[in-house]
Amino acid sequence: MDLREQWIETELEELRRAQRFRRAVTPPPGLLNFSSNDYLNLAQHPDVIAAAERALHAAGAGATASRLVSGTLPLHEELEARLARLKGYPAALLFGSGYLANLGILGALVGRGDTVFADRLAHASLMDAALLSRAELCRFRHNDTQHLDELLQKHSGAGRKLVVTESVFSMDGDVAPLPELAAVAERHGALLLVDEAHATGVFGPGGSGLIREHQLESKVNLSMGTLSKALGGYGGFVACSTAMRALLINRARAFIYTTAPPPAAVGAALGALDVLEKNPGWGAELLRHAAAFRDQLRAAGFDVMQSASQIIPIQVGANARALEVADKLRAAGLLAIAIRPPTVPEGTARLRLSITRAHSETDLARALDIIRSVCAV
Ligand SMILES: *Cc1c(COP(=O)(O)O)cnc(C)c1O
Repeated sequence: MDLREQWIETELEELRRAQRFRRAVTPPPGLLNFSSNDYLNLAQHPDVIAAAERALHAAGAGATASRLVSGTLPLHEELEARLARLKGYPAALLFGSGYLANLGILGALVGRGDTVFADRLAHASLMDAALLSRAELCRFRHNDTQHLDELLQKHSGAGRKLVVTESVFSMDGDVAPLPELAAVAERHGALLLVDEAHATGVFGPGGSGLIREHQLESKVNLSMGTLSKALGGYGGFVACSTAMRALLINRARAFIYTTAPPPAAVGAALGALDVLEKNPGWGAELLRHAAAFRDQLRAAGFDVMQSASQIIPIQVGANARALEVADKLRAAGLLAIAIRPPTVPEGTARLRLSITRAHSETDLARALDIIRSVCAV
């Protein structure tokens, strides 16, 4: 072994001992998959695939340059206009991924001397973005607008303020109190970014998200989302004002210094938006199925935390227990991933179940049976 890499084995051993070792997962065929973010099953939709194919053949495999050099294709601007319309904002800007969108946005808006106020459970991409921006990072208690209010009060000095949260939390499946958060941010003159990664396509009129559901477009400065969850493809974006878009184009390094998204990905997203437009009730239908399934789990005595979405955690606590249950579920034919720290707080390891359109009533009934029998022993 290369002596320079010896320390790696030691670190890996520590991870294994703490039951924190992770591996890349390919879903085995034939399993009931409860771990996909493809909530509307658009990744395999024939219209989405056809739209990706058309864009691929018309514009090629790659965008060939960054957006500011010569990589901007009419397709990019068409998709941005469509996303702006879906989200109810004047403009939108595409990024390579949701992770890059958050990195780019925070870096463009705040720096030394500024403060980011982040919900304690906000996604790693938002935390990384805050750290990279060099702004001070203040975390408020999960969904606690009063705590946010106090922190904003304490930091009423100079410097720009930016509040960041998710609308549907990725590992808890609960929902942020957006109207209250927006009121608090506005009262303190703080910008507000809401990450709608898990709400886009599912919540709100026609899958437009929770900002639109609450008619908060004029109060939430940045409506961030991803093409990679319910839209079934790949890429990230933010909907915002035209001035904000122009600023991001000039300042967001994760936008400027990377190649523009490839035509096939842009085409897939346009195809997904078409399907969504033709089926505006799909999100609500999915949420009804998820609510019924959640009620059954709760009635069977499981701790589904504060879930109010298509994401339903079953909290088990210890890492080892979460891994054991996940293994047994898999052996019984159900794929649900054990989510452990550092993704979630210590002692709150859980199975994260996500419900998709592909789950029939029979699938959900079978899943409930499997979960009950595995967890009973
Ligand atoms: C998945 C996710 C992202 C990152 O989006 P990608 O397009 O997968 O990079 C950002 N925020 C939240 C809340 C997410 O769940």
